[in-house]
Amino acid sequence: MKLPQVDYEAPQTVAEAVGLLAEHQDEASVLAGGQSLIPLLALRLARPAVLIDINGIDELSGVSAADGWMAIGAMTREYVAEESEAIAGAVPLLAAALPLIGHEAIRSRGTIGGSLAHADPAAELPAVARALDAEFVVCGPSGERIVPAAQWFEGYLTTSRRPDELLVEVRFPITKPGTGISFQEVARRHGDFAIVGLAASLTLSEGAISDARLAFAGLSDVPVRAGEAEILLVGQRPSAELFDEAARRATSDIDPPADLHGSADYRRKVAAALVRRALRAAADSAGERE
Ligand SMILES: Cc1cc2nc3c(=O)[nH]c(=O)nc-3n(C[C@H](O)[C@H](O)[C@H](O)COP(=O)(O)OP(=O)(O)OC[C@H]3O[C@@H](n4cnc5c(N)ncnc54)[C@H](O)[C@@H]3O)c2cc1C
Repeated sequence: MKLPQVDYEAPQTVAEAVGLLAEHQDEASVLAGGQSLIPLLALRLARPAVLIDINGIDELSGVSAADGWMAIGAMTREYVAEESEAIAGAVPLLAAALPLIGHEAIRSRGTIGGSLAHADPAAELPAVARALDAEFVVCGPSGERIVPAAQWFEGYLTTSRRPDELLVEVRFPITKPGTGISFQEVARRHGDFAIVGLAASLTLSEGAISDARLAFAGLSDVPVRAGEAEILLVGQRPSAELFDEAARRATSDIDPPADLHGSADYRRKVAAALVRRALRAAADSAGERE
């Protein structure tokens, strides 16, 4: 399918890109890896007047750790992050989720910033960002601002990024000792978007859970934290009974969507099974690292 007629700009710096966004506002779309945007253009589901291609902005790629945070440039390719030993060591939940995104060909073009700016509620990285309380660094005409993950995802494919802002970096907290993680999902085929996904992290201290994080993909128009289950888990010792009760609390008041891939009730049952599975796996790996 042919793309619609669209003007094309290829800035070489963040400042140039922000200047173009300020000039064109809602009429512009940022082009990163193109793995979501190009199909949207081809299907005429997006009709920008101008594409601002940020692939030539070198300062947007890279991975660095400082002050307890792992900072990942927005244009860092998903496969580069997947192969990064620094990320595997410092943010293992992110490392576990990356190989589940689509297929290798998609991850070789798709970017960390593109996935998180696109904000597909069934995608893996938004759930990881929400579970870990990542921070989003955006740059606009009046400088940078930092948006916490809890305020980034506003609705289906919608974030709190303003039209004149570029997502430049995403920061994930470096994982504490004694933490175990698990990313679980159910998809129809390997590489498909998840019907339901779950990012889970448990920290153990002297055998008891001192921090618990659970964030679902695919259950709402944004990634969702299971706050009630997290509260239940903290202070307790891991056990099958505790994880059963956490699964009940995590799914008792959710209202999942129904579509061709599954009913709301099916999604609720899958979500409960993923909570039990993820907590078991996270507790086992936390025990090994304590
Ligand atoms: C067949 C197929 C299967 C896939 N399966 C999965 C999957 O299982 N899980 C999954 O998570 N994803 C999946 N994807 C999507 C993939 O992860 C994309 O790479 C990702 O969603 C978008 O990243 P991108 O860099 O390609 O962004 P683009 O497609 O270039 O952009 C996506 C959106 O984000 C905006 N944007 C991009 N970068 C910035 C920025 N720095 N600042 C502001 N706005 C920006 C764009 O304007 C656009 O609106 C799949 C894609 C395909 C084609």
